[in-house]
Amino acid sequence: VKAGDTHILVDAGRGVVMRMAGAGSLPGLLAGVLVTHLHSDHICALNDVITTHWVMSQGKATLPIYGPIGTAEFVDRQLHALEPDIGYRMEHHDVLTNPPLVNVTELAPGDSFALGDVKIDTAATEHAPVRPTIGFRIEHAGSTAALVGDTIPCDGVDELARNADVYVQTVIRRDLVEMIPVGMMQDILDYHSGVVEAAQTAERVAAKRLALTHMVPAPTPERYPEWIAIAAEHYSGEVIVGDDLTTVTI
Ligand SMILES: [Zn+2]
Ligand SMILES: [Zn+2]
Repeated sequence: VKAGDTHILVDAGRGVVMRMAGAGSLPGLLAGVLVTHLHSDHICALNDVITTHWVMSQGKATLPIYGPIGTAEFVDRQLHALEPDIGYRMEHHDVLTNPPLVNVTELAPGDSFALGDVKIDTAATEHAPVRPTIGFRIEHAGSTAALVGDTIPCDGVDELARNADVYVQTVIRRDLVEMIPVGMMQDILDYHSGVVEAAQTAERVAAKRLALTHMVPAPTPERYPEWIAIAAEHYSGEVIVGDDLTTVTI
């Protein structure tokens, strides 16, 4: 999320540093990282964000990381895993005199805080058995984006996405997943929003735009109109297929 000059990363999934570069940002520009939950597909590249931020700032800047309970231990373990790399770089670059500086804040649902002139509200989401999970409502200069992560519809999502200029929801296609004859795929049905449910949420809370992301099964571009059409049956606002590097300006 770019809000004025403030860059904020929400979750750190696979290849996120390369995608940040593609989106005109970089870890060294981040005001903070917001983590919705500790599923690997949302945090597996946090180590790369930490390392790149450290190197880009020549070891001088602290990276603020916000996430649910458990985030601090996860970050500690990442730093532990990175110890050999940290040692090599400090030995090689005289300018690097300290390991990566991070400041982890563990959030309870309902906590609010600011990054620069950007206001961030949180609420509990529902992604059991993953607990705790939180979503974010980001406000800047009268514009609001809700990025709620993996969740089924719940009061917390409604609160975060209410009247938002864009509501970003990770989604699955329930109808397609149900056709996949793999038990582990069937398991994901009970803890994600389907496209229909995301659209119903967007309509209920009067979000101005619905951006679908983290789409499972991943559609090819020629399938995007189908995903949009399904959402449009339940939602009167603009539906955006948020493939990688999609920009939504609000
Ligand atoms: Zn998840
Ligand atoms: Zn996920």
